[in-house]
Amino acid sequence: MTEETDNYLDIVNKIRKIHTNDPNVFIPLHAPIFCGNEKKYLNECIDSTFVSSVGPFVDRIEKEMAEFTGSKYAIACVNGTAALHIALLLAGVQENELVITQSLSFVATTNAIKYCNANPVFLDVDLTTMSLSPKCLEDFLTNETIQIDGKCIHKSTNKRIGAVVPMHTFGICADLSALSTICKNHNIPLVEDAAESLGSFYGDKHSGTIGLLGTLSFNGNKTITSGGGGFILTQDAELAKRAKYLTTQAKEPHAWKFYHTEIGYNYRMPNINAALLTAQLEQLPKFLKSKRAIANEYKILFDSYSDVTFVLEPENQTSNYWLCSILMNSQENRDAFLEISNKHNTMCRPAWELLHTLPPFSNEILGSTLENSYYIQSRLVNLPSSPNPRYW
Ligand SMILES: *Cc1c(COP(=O)(O)O)cnc(C)c1O
Repeated sequence: MTEETDNYLDIVNKIRKIHTNDPNVFIPLHAPIFCGNEKKYLNECIDSTFVSSVGPFVDRIEKEMAEFTGSKYAIACVNGTAALHIALLLAGVQENELVITQSLSFVATTNAIKYCNANPVFLDVDLTTMSLSPKCLEDFLTNETIQIDGKCIHKSTNKRIGAVVPMHTFGICADLSALSTICKNHNIPLVEDAAESLGSFYGDKHSGTIGLLGTLSFNGNKTITSGGGGFILTQDAELAKRAKYLTTQAKEPHAWKFYHTEIGYNYRMPNINAALLTAQLEQLPKFLKSKRAIANEYKILFDSYSDVTFVLEPENQTSNYWLCSILMNSQENRDAFLEISNKHNTMCRPAWELLHTLPPFSNEILGSTLENSYYIQSRLVNLPSSPNPRYW
């Protein structure tokens, strides 16, 4: 063993001690915990026979999600990708338009753009937030677009910019105040992909509530889960009404008649998933508390290693620390660390492959250099970050 890898094994053992006293047990990256009313509510739901998309848990979770996030309206969806698809449609994204987003994201962000038959424009991220860079956005809009009749038009393709979609990477919010000012100045709706940032606050506002629309995910690896599930957040009554309408097959409410005015989607969250999510949301405060405590343990640990940097929440925001991350000093060392940690039953993962390098998105527009995205992609490691009763 080289000195470096020796050093990494030492780090892996210290990481393990943060989570468990068992030297051999497998430590997942992020596992759900069901230690509240999950079984009780699921049983209630099954006993009621209302397991599908109509039922009291769906209505209840919509109310409770609005309360937790401080969003005026919260609409339950079948998953986060579907929520994003509808949010983009509601923002007014149309066929053949462009949607600005970051290349450093999970593929769902761009898939949803493609579902609208629109095309992504990839911009870089900031190193401090790992999320969409306001400077790159401003430069791109100033240099590459013009305003025609109140629309932002990309000069070289003559296409309208339909939306800007920052993604709050691993729970750290993009610089939302700068992004929302730029979007207002250029007449572009801001849609936040807040799939990873339930419980993250920008100032005193919950992520996903600053843009025209925001979306959440409750997939099994997220901070809390409904098995599969998502949410649309908005402060606009009309958009909220349309969100519910479009996610329920665009059916006109009526006692017995099946009348649909446009193409709708079967995107409503089933009651059985809502039952699970209702129980999970009750436990969110203690999950968040334990995730912060784990982040703090990591910070203390990595303070004593000069070649590894723990990614901290920026000033003026509170991260949910969904996935804690470190930056290594080279790709080679990143790979060496991933080898050693995974070999020792400690699940660590790199960031996603940059979206513009994937086959379905290889011909899309790059609106800036992607220097920081490459930097993060080649050096970042996500560390085990599950909520842990030890810390609540
Ligand atoms: C999880 C996630 C989504 C949504 O995923 P679903 O599995 O469809 O709920 C969207 N965007 C990002 C960045 C995500 O991490």
